[in-house]
Amino acid sequence: MCILIDHDHRGEIEARVAAATSLVFYVDFDGTLAPIVADPGLASLSPETRAVLEELSGREDVLFAVVSGRSLADVKARVGLQSVVYSGDHGLQIEGHSLRFEHPEAARCRDALAELNQQLIGLPLLLPGVQIESKSLTTAIHYRRAPEGTREQIETITRSLVPADHPLFVLTGGKMVIEIRPRVDWNKGTAVRWIQDRLQADGALPFIIGDDRTDEDAFDAIDDAITIRVGPEESTVARYCLPDQEAVGELLDWLLRVWKERRASANGDEAHSNGRPGLGIKESSPIPSVRLRRSAAIRKRELSRRGDSPA
Ligand SMILES: [Mg+2]
Repeated sequence: MCILIDHDHRGEIEARVAAATSLVFYVDFDGTLAPIVADPGLASLSPETRAVLEELSGREDVLFAVVSGRSLADVKARVGLQSVVYSGDHGLQIEGHSLRFEHPEAARCRDALAELNQQLIGLPLLLPGVQIESKSLTTAIHYRRAPEGTREQIETITRSLVPADHPLFVLTGGKMVIEIRPRVDWNKGTAVRWIQDRLQADGALPFIIGDDRTDEDAFDAIDDAITIRVGPEESTVARYCLPDQEAVGELLDWLLRVWKERRASANGDEAHSNGRPGLGIKESSPIPSVRLRRSAAIRKRELSRRGDSPA
């Protein structure tokens, strides 16, 4: 069970912030940075949250990554900040600072995914309220605006296209969405690890924040990270939780203020002349190996995910 971040527990987090030399954020977009809206095409950051993100991500001693199920291009356009690292398609693509990654096996499934998308084109006509979000390497079928019972119909149709033993793709379920994803050992957690492994981050304090089932993979990704699940309490491996999406903006704003005070009092002007204290990118490498060492916890979750398919 997670601990609701109230005033008392902010103190616990503040103590860890005080001991850190830099902060690293891995934060989901929908339902976390931006409110959930009926039409996913209309989701956006509030001006307040954008301002906090801009200031946090612009600091030398902070790395801010947005890790989303949306396509990379979509999430980049919605956040629109140069200094942020973006990861789209549930981690299959990563871009920002000198980092750039696309999962090679997933990329090889592009044409096959395009063919599946063609077969889904008529679905919104058949099932009113259903929306198809065709991303770069995955496809989402949203049914938030559809009548009750639509999910079962979508499952039947998508399952006929992507049976459980499909060689290239799997179906996964999230909040009011069914997704077609390439059958690869990669998720938000492996993406978070991929980024973290490339940081010069001695003394960095990582935060991992998300609201959905796919974020659970990320919560396991880094030992000792501050993990926060957003929304009404559900089963989670995160240590902390926040009551709703609005509380995320408030928390980030508070963290920014605490961090600025800490850095100012700890280092005075020195912090500014030292460049990125304890935080930088190790390599501006092209495509490194996609095989990362994975923690036992992640492997266990991956095994248990097999039972996650919606049908
Ligand atoms: Mg989300």
